Amino acid sequence: MSQERTLSIIKPDAVSKNVVGQIISMFEAKGLKVVAAKMMQLTQEQAEGFYEVHKERPFFNDLVKFMISGPVLVQVLEGDNAIALNREIMGATNPKEAAPGTIRATFASSIDENAVHGSDAPETAKNEISFFFKDAELCPRTR
Ligand code: ADP
Ligand code: MG
Repeated sequence: MSQERTLSIIKPDAVSKNVVGQIISMFEAKGLKVVAAKMMQLTQEQAEGFYEVHKERPFFNDLVKFMISGPVLVQVLEGDNAIALNREIMGATNPKEAAPGTIRATFASSIDENAVHGSDAPETAKNEISFFFKDAELCPRTR
């Protein structure tokens, strides 16, 4: 397995439920390491840019409105197979279909407000990380 980095966002619904620490613990328990993190209030332009791939989808406007409805915690997670592992820990997009014990099964209330984002492939991970972080903001684990 290869060391990878992936972008994770704890979305406004989960921040508002005050479960940021519990969610990070779920990543840490499976071996993922935080190598960058910041709390941000996204602007409309940032949310639209980040989700540009979905701009033709019927839920795009609601998704953008939701993502700017409160602060988010944006982070970079590192570990073996981090991209797929993060998706596994998150659970399915629709929390009704998410496996028990996953973040979305535990904390998400609907497909619209589903607690977390995670990159879905190496190319998107690279682009999404650079959307939010400069190289110098990524902190390799030296111990
Ligand atoms: P994921 O976040 O699991 O990668 P997608 O990339 O397909 O899922 O969608 C991005 C986000 O858009 C989802 O996390 C969810 O917040 C929202 N979304 C996706 N599909 C729907 C839908 N059918 N109705 C409402 N919101 C949706
Ligand atoms: Mg996606």
